[in-house]
Formats: sequence, structure tokens, C-alpha cells
Amino acid sequence: MSGSEDTVYDCIIIGAGPGGLQAAVYLGRYNRQVLLIDRGGGRTSHALHIENFLTRKEISGRELIELGLAQARTFHVRLERGLVTGLRKFQFFEVLAGGKRYLSKFVIVSSGVYDNLPEIENVREFLGRGFYTCVDCDGYRTTGRKLLVMGNSINTVHLAFAMKEMFTEDLTLLLIFYDPPEEYKEALREEGITLVKGRPVRIIGSSDIEAVEMRDGGRIPCEAIMSNFGFKLNDRFLSGLQLKRDPAGFKYVVNHHYESSLGGLYIVGPLNTGPDQAVIAAGEGAVAALDIKKRLLEL
Ligand SMILES: Cc1cc2nc3c(=O)[nH]c(=O)nc-3n(C[C@H](O)[C@H](O)[C@H](O)COP(=O)(O)OP(=O)(O)OC[C@H]3O[C@@H](n4cnc5c(N)ncnc54)[C@H](O)[C@@H]3O)c2cc1C
Repeated sequence: MSGSEDTVYDCIIIGAGPGGLQAAVYLGRYNRQVLLIDRGGGRTSHALHIENFLTRKEISGRELIELGLAQARTFHVRLERGLVTGLRKFQFFEVLAGGKRYLSKFVIVSSGVYDNLPEIENVREFLGRGFYTCVDCDGYRTTGRKLLVMGNSINTVHLAFAMKEMFTEDLTLLLIFYDPPEEYKEALREEGITLVKGRPVRIIGSSDIEAVEMRDGGRIPCEAIMSNFGFKLNDRFLSGLQLKRDPAGFKYVVNHHYESSLGGLYIVGPLNTGPDQAVIAAGEGAVAALDIKKRLLEL
């Protein structure tokens, strides 16, 4: 540890996505001492076009973050660039980041998640440009297009039915090795959804997707891909805290103010059991901030 500060912040916020930034704006406007720690390059920054956040028909995730950071700074929120590696609670919370130790009365964790991507060599070239990972975010962009839904579980089969119902008739389902029950195969046939099994290796196309190349050399023509391989949580720094999780042992359980099973530690955004959207993370950040405002007054 190369340094430690004497300041005890009112709140340290981990992660400058929509959740953390909205909380920072609220707490900054109560004239509280707020430290926002962010390593940069989170999930929202990969969203090329957000169309469902109120007030803008379209905004990129990067612009949303830049505007949020500028807004938070006007309310004297301090921003530190760095990776949070540890979080403990003694009299105060102790947050370890970038070789330093910071103290705080409350902590809001808004460090988000990251998508599992299939092992397709050029997948990142098409991320957000025809290759999508979130039906609520980008399902609409597949409307009327030749769509390939890919994944490896029963959830992927359900997703294929949902995509057909809402967005497009022209749909192929690619499962890597998962074999769905017979009644599902029958339902897929009835819905006119082609089922293909195998391993995709490359996306064909330049500015637009034209097809997916399979390991056996075959090609599946498509204009858009909806991928369904789940995600992982950015939560390594929480590992020593034994926080309560959902029955699957995956996401964190929180109360209606987004406070976790450890008093004073709030978890907003897709790390908790609620849904995953930018506007929802922002709303949760606001609720957590309001609760912390109240508790700081009580202190
Ligand atoms: C391609 C794509 C498109 C999307 N499109 C939409 C859309 O159209 N509409 C919509 O509502 N949502 C969309 N989303 C989802 C949206 O990005 C998330 O719901 C939202 O980001 C959740 O906000 P958050 O604040 O919890 O996390 P994030 O935006 O993931 O921000 C978390 C921040 O925490 C930082 N961080 C992580 N770990 C640490 C650490 N240990 N130390 C310090 N900092 C850390 C990250 O670097 C990041 O800056 C999209 C997501 C993707 C990937």
C-alpha cells in the first residue's frame, strides 16, 4: 500500500456507469463528500447506440458517461481513476484502489458486469454493429432482418421464440452443443425456426454482417446476430465479505433501498437481482443515494 488518506468520505462509489454516476450527482447535490473510483472502459462504454434512455432518441454509452462525469464534477464529486481491489469494513469502510486506501461511511458498488462472448475470431469487430448481446437493448435493431440467435442452453431456445414474436420472422437458431428436448424441437419446427448445431468460427462481412462461418466450413447467412452466453460480475473485490446472494449463488440480494446484507454497503445495477438496463441502474443509484442522505442526517 503506497498511501492512505485521512479523509473519511461520506460515500465512496465504485464504478462510473449510469448507476454510480447518478448516485454521485445526487450525493454531490447534498454537498456530501463523495469519491467516485472507476477503472474506465465499462459495459456502457461498449453500447454504440442507446435508444431507450429518456430525452435522447439516440446516445452512445460513451457520450452518456462523459456527460455524467462532467455533471458529477460540477457538484464537486472527486474522481479517481483506478481498479478497486479490496473492500473491508471496520469502524468505516476501507476501499483499496491503485495502491491507496480510502475510508468512507457508506459505499455504493456499481461496478457492473461483462458479457461472455462466443469464441468467434472477429466478434469484437461487429459488437454493436449487427452482433448483439441484449434483447432489451438491441432487439429492436433486428426488426425485419435475417437473424441468427446463438447460444448453448434452454434460455437460448426461449430467446429464439421471443425474438420471433417481437422482431423478425426470418430466424435461425444455432446451438453449439446443447440438445433441446423433443417438444421444443417440435415447437421450433411449428414456428418455422431452423435449428442448427455446431461451432461458429468467423463472421463474414465488412460493414454489415453477411453470414457466420462454421468450423465444418458451412455458412449460415444472416444480417444480425443475437448472442446468449450469459455474463460475469465485476465483483472480485467483494469476495471477502460473505454477502448474501440469490439461490443460484450468483447475484447479490439487496433490500428496496439497494442495501446489501452488509449494513451501509449498497449494490446497484446488474450486480443485484433486478433487471439490467442503463436507466434502471441510474434509478437504483438515485434510490441508494436518497437512503444514504437520510442516514447521514441521522448520524
Ligand atoms: C453492447 C451493449 C449495449 C447496451 N445497450 C443498452 C441500451 O441500449 N440500453 C440500456 O438501457 N442498456 C444498454 N446496455 C446495458 C447497460 O450498459 C447496463 O445496464 C448499464 O451499464 C449498467 O450500469 P452500471 O452503472 O451498473 O454498470 P457499467 O456501465 O458496467 O459501469 C461499471 C463501471 O465500473 C467500472 N468498474 C468495474 N470494476 C471495477 C473495479 N474493480 N474498480 C473500479 N471500477 C470498476 C467499469 O470500468 C465501469 O466504468 C448495453 C450494454 C452493452 C454491453
